[in-house]
Amino acid sequence: MSLPALFDVPASSPAVPVASGPSGVTVLSYGLGADSTAILLRFLAHPERYGLRPDLSDLVVVHAVTGDEWPDSLDYVERLVLPRLRAARVRLVQIARGGQEDADGVVILDDSRAPRRVFAHGPWRLSDELRSAGTVPQMANGNRTCSIRAKGFCLDAWAAAEFGTAWFRRTIGYHAGEIGRAEKDSRIQDGLNAAAGRTLCEPYYPLIHEGMDRAAVEAYVLEELGEPIRKSYCAMCCFSGVCASRDAHEDRLRRHPRIAADVLRLEYVSQALNEKVALYGTTSLRSRLTEDGRNAAVVEEFARSLARAPHAVYEVRRIYFAARTADCRTWHGQDCRAPRWWCRQPRTEHCARAHPVAELGPWCAGAEACRGEARKGQAWRSVRTVHEGDRAGTEAYVWAMAAEHGMRFEAGEHSGIERAHYLTEGDGYPTASAYLVAAPAGVHDKQRPRFEERFTALTGRDGTVGMPVRELPEPRPRRATAGRPLVRPAESLIPPR
Ligand code: SF4
Ligand SMILES: [Zn+2]
Ligand SMILES: [Zn+2]
Repeated sequence: MSLPALFDVPASSPAVPVASGPSGVTVLSYGLGADSTAILLRFLAHPERYGLRPDLSDLVVVHAVTGDEWPDSLDYVERLVLPRLRAARVRLVQIARGGQEDADGVVILDDSRAPRRVFAHGPWRLSDELRSAGTVPQMANGNRTCSIRAKGFCLDAWAAAEFGTAWFRRTIGYHAGEIGRAEKDSRIQDGLNAAAGRTLCEPYYPLIHEGMDRAAVEAYVLEELGEPIRKSYCAMCCFSGVCASRDAHEDRLRRHPRIAADVLRLEYVSQALNEKVALYGTTSLRSRLTEDGRNAAVVEEFARSLARAPHAVYEVRRIYFAARTADCRTWHGQDCRAPRWWCRQPRTEHCARAHPVAELGPWCAGAEACRGEARKGQAWRSVRTVHEGDRAGTEAYVWAMAAEHGMRFEAGEHSGIERAHYLTEGDGYPTASAYLVAAPAGVHDKQRPRFEERFTALTGRDGTVGMPVRELPEPRPRRATAGRPLVRPAESLIPPR
């Protein structure tokens, strides 16, 4: 993936310093929020109390740029925090992902003891990735994958390049109300240290040691900086009801109606492609905002931006495979490659008589007793763009296709978004669904290499109903990182904000 010209990078990584034992450096992961700002101010005020040198030459403040931070958070830190860092000559390193793939590495946007600005974005933004995937930030297996990709990956790669095999003290802003999170973090770090066979870093939680809870942290920052600090998070964060109270979040959306409209559009596309994936599960930000008349201007801005946005018609097909069940394991051992709803052999005598295998469609139409437990397995999604135009034109296309192919029109249960369905999932697994929907353009066509084959085997259908506007991108082999992502300084450091 080529990087924008603003981020010209040299061809190779700087050499990784090799050392062992302690580096003697304390790293503060600076998220721009109240907790890490409080720690930073305390470090500046009393370095020795926190085991730092009086001149703070052994402190590195690292900020991972997601590209979607609120402008008022950037402004706050630039006005009130950076002057203090400059005065104390504290080193601030700003880093961002180099691109979508890990092989694109990490770009150092700035590394300075006299920082003048906080970068709004690097060559990659979390929201761009979400927009092209047609989704919103989500949890996966209890993890915030967005945060791992946008922040954790950059911080780990930068630290590995900076310290080599030397270990450092990693300062994290958990406050006294977050002891459970700190304990979990310590356990994870212990596991990582054990797996590496050495100490990678030593976690340090100064706010917990000092018994400062969230209220104490906010009061301290207010006292020091004279203005209440605003919470720091990506504008489209699915934890925005947690990161900030709902009221504070909605107030911020009202102050930034354009950003609000962008977030609402991102959510709209996500729901168009998957009814169940709004910003807060099935509950959408849009439905929350419409509950309160104070948000009318934001909702209108969104309506205008939706009307103006270039649109596409997406043909969305899904295969829901069956998961293996206890029955399936009992009768088909380790090796059942095609678990089915009735994956229960030997079948009952009645089933064998009444529903001979040759007559079974995708699922046994027989009595309940014939079937084993139905459990949903993996779901595969294919998104193909079959038409492009303005909003009215793409909606007209969907209506015309629905009339021509006898599709069923239905508004989404949560979103109200209208879709033309030509295949609806059945009760058992495997099963499939398919529909056409008009929504803002920008989602990249995507499906697994064997999707068509499996879709045809399951449904008897051949390809899409609409004519895809473009070919699927060729699957590219994953690029190697030689075990370690590149960490590269940007040569041009001034992206427009
Ligand atoms: S602030 Fe929210 S959206 Fe942004 S990286 Fe963190 S969890 Fe993800
Ligand atoms: Zn089976
Ligand atoms: Zn049967």
